Amino acid sequence: MSHELRTPMNAIIGFSQLLLRQKHQLGETQADMVNRILNNGKHLLALINDILDLSKIEAGRLELKVERFRLSDLVKATTEELRSLADQKQLQLLITDQLANPQILNDSSRLRQVLVNLLSNAIKFTDQGSITLEIREVSDDRLAMIVQDTGIGIAPGEIPHIFEEFRQVDQSSTRRHAGTGLGLAITRWLVQEMGGHITVTSVLHQGSTFRVDIPREIPNGRTSEAELPHCLAPGDQPLMRN
Ligand code: ADP
Repeated sequence: MSHELRTPMNAIIGFSQLLLRQKHQLGETQADMVNRILNNGKHLLALINDILDLSKIEAGRLELKVERFRLSDLVKATTEELRSLADQKQLQLLITDQLANPQILNDSSRLRQVLVNLLSNAIKFTDQGSITLEIREVSDDRLAMIVQDTGIGIAPGEIPHIFEEFRQVDQSSTRRHAGTGLGLAITRWLVQEMGGHITVTSVLHQGSTFRVDIPREIPNGRTSEAELPHCLAPGDQPLMRN
């Protein structure tokens, strides 16, 4: 199913990118149209990926693939990928790596997904100032990853809800930004599955801090159906279940 959904999107995104490389052959209006196809295609692909993740979570089929790697390398690579987004908004992206021992046991691509979600939200909801990512040891066997921004902040009453599926804070400035409203629900589930937890503190109009605490080593295991309610609010119906 995921193949059928992703393949047409890859064609739409790939051919739009090819067309834009031949920009000189396109008129200004045509280039603008292709740009819109590309941006909307990317947005739709992100939505498809999030919905597929959520349906895997709810079916008990999302498995962490545990391996040993250097968290510092993952952080470096991920922040370099996102740096151009921060640059476009003239935001500083600062990394503080205080790990004495950078070796961890985790699922590198899922941990990367957690970092991308938090950092891209921080960039998206900040118009001026900086984004900082700090990684450090909390104890011998636990680490913290802290993403802090100087953005629009989140009202106290909204904080408990931002981890719910499809939940987006209803502020006009928030809605200027595209998003699926699924990133934090998936992020929280992944972090909990890693044996960790995520917390947020925020001051409206001043900024937000998301903190992820995880064990240095997570056990290699499969998600079981019994663990599903993690990311569902009480009374919520599971999505995408046929
Ligand atoms: P989205 O795709 O909308 O970013 P998320 O699940 O990642 O969905 O986030 C849910 C909502 O939480 C966002 O729409 C936004 O209203 C709020 N939010 C998340 N991160 C931040 C942040 N760093 N600053 C302000 N608001 C945030």
